[in-house]
Amino acid sequence: MAEAKKIENVIVVGGGPAGYTAALYTARANLEPLVFEGFQWGGQLQNTTDVENYPGYPEGIMGPEMMSQFRAQAERFGTRFVTDDVDRVELTDGGLQKVFLGEEEHLARTVILAMGAEPRRLGAAGEIELSGRGVSTCGVCDGAFFKDKKVIVIGGGDSAMEDSIFVSKYASDLIVVNRRNEFRASKIMRDRAAERPNIDFKTPFVAEEFVAGEDGALDHVRLRNVETGDAEDIAADGAFVAIGHIPQSAIVDGQVDTDEDGYVMTQPGSTKTNLAGVFAVGDLVDHTYRQAVTAAGTGCMGALDAEWYLRDTPPSPEAHWAKGGEPAEIAPAPGS
Ligand code: NAP
Repeated sequence: MAEAKKIENVIVVGGGPAGYTAALYTARANLEPLVFEGFQWGGQLQNTTDVENYPGYPEGIMGPEMMSQFRAQAERFGTRFVTDDVDRVELTDGGLQKVFLGEEEHLARTVILAMGAEPRRLGAAGEIELSGRGVSTCGVCDGAFFKDKKVIVIGGGDSAMEDSIFVSKYASDLIVVNRRNEFRASKIMRDRAAERPNIDFKTPFVAEEFVAGEDGALDHVRLRNVETGDAEDIAADGAFVAIGHIPQSAIVDGQVDTDEDGYVMTQPGSTKTNLAGVFAVGDLVDHTYRQAVTAAGTGCMGALDAEWYLRDTPPSPEAHWAKGGEPAEIAPAPGS
């Protein structure tokens, strides 16, 4: 007889704080989660240096080390990891969920989507190279490192205003650089930023190059005036690129409900998507907070929602038989 095809209780897609927390909770519930953590596991924290605002680390911790610890904690309770990127998924409303690595098919009764979001990048020279050495995409995370320093913030939306207001509590001078004379930000946020005595605005300019000093850290930013074409160098110890985020929802596009910006939509107060058995957590869902601790919190919610779904939903007849009519091995249900 053909070998039984295993049907997992839970597949988690994503290896950031949300995915690893979902793995930890489902592993402790004996659901033996299978995590597709991505080739570059660790999410945005893999590109972060000191994390000083995650509770429980009074001395702070390096982002990659924190992600290793999240991962190890989930592994301790039996999580299995696949360090590769999922190519596609076939999601159903309450049926078997399918996750593919190339042509390799993995079946599950529930899927927790935790692919996160990526900060939108300018594509300017030096932007990636000086990331963590002056260039940052998270004001709340890194603002405190720029006490009494000169900082620029690039962007004209609410995120840029919010980052500017936050970082201006530390920086000596802060210049907001926007590519248009008009700002996309709400008036209230723009006004709040304008009221800060150490914030100035510079428009219409784009950042063209981030340039390091002799110490290898950011020294100045080359700007270009969009109207005149003139270049101008601005001395800066820090530069925050705050031009929006891109949720990593491409593999579920057209299968689960997303909003106009591509964020996966969940039912209020839960991680349930429009498809029964499919849950979404972390920055893939979150427009607003986007912190490691909030992502971890919703990862926990997703795990509990999946656990309760499995408890309350008997396996569908389809789940007893895999493709080709072979009997399927269904992972044990919670509490069995
Ligand atoms: P956003 O509203 O999309 O604004 C992005 C900003 O970056 C715009 O000023 C845009 O310029 C600029 N930009 C985009 N690509 C650029 C490029 N390549 N070079 C230079 N500038 C570029 O994004 P967001 O500020 O992250 O906000 C996202 C959503 O979250 C919004 O709905 C916002 O209201 C909300 N939010 C709310 C709060 C709050 O209320 N406290 C805080 C943060 C975010 P253009 O205008 O020229 O396109």
